[in-house]
Amino acid sequence: MTDSAEWQTVHDTAVTNTNQDSMVHVTINTTLICQNMTNQEFAKIIMKVRDAAVTLVIERIAAVSKWDAQERARATTYFGRADEEIRSVLVAGLPKLLFALRELVPEKIVRWDDALNKNLTCAIVADSGNNRAGVCKPDSRRRVIAIYSAFCTDSNGELWHGAKVKTIIHECTHYTDTFNSEDIIYGNTEGGMRAFALGNPDSAIRNADSITGYISTFDKTVAR
Ligand SMILES: [Zn+2]
Repeated sequence: MTDSAEWQTVHDTAVTNTNQDSMVHVTINTTLICQNMTNQEFAKIIMKVRDAAVTLVIERIAAVSKWDAQERARATTYFGRADEEIRSVLVAGLPKLLFALRELVPEKIVRWDDALNKNLTCAIVADSGNNRAGVCKPDSRRRVIAIYSAFCTDSNGELWHGAKVKTIIHECTHYTDTFNSEDIIYGNTEGGMRAFALGNPDSAIRNADSITGYISTFDKTVAR
């Protein structure tokens, strides 16, 4: 994919730059990002779930710094162990993840089939009805997230099942400058992730949904 195109801000209405000395950019996006809401509603929801994700990560940074028995139990649930290696990965990765989430704005979230995909630096797979989103892992400069239709109908923040909050955390863990996570196994439930962690204590800390589960426990609702 081409790496030459620069990111353009896309507004819901035409915006003209009245400064005659600079280039005039007119971008119009009339395509709905999600069929079940306007693009204005979508933008509002993205900021709401982004803020909820930021809060969850801040809570974990504080908890990892304490690293009490409760937090070690939580880490063991999702990573199969709570040793110094796990803690140091979290200490290094969580603030970077927080930084990436704070950079996230609605304009960086595009439909997978949007023309804006030409700005992505990797191939994006088609909408299967099951996939939620995709990112180009090394693209920490643009941090564009491509979303699929299932993302639109997921809850905003019902953390025990599909939730937009979890999807954006998941995607942001993939960036090479955050956790550089992989999709070793997908899992939306605490039980599933615990079983995976028990059998795979070496790799769970690299698995996107394990890190996502650790950050966003499945027993709460945020960003209603
Ligand atoms: Zn993933």
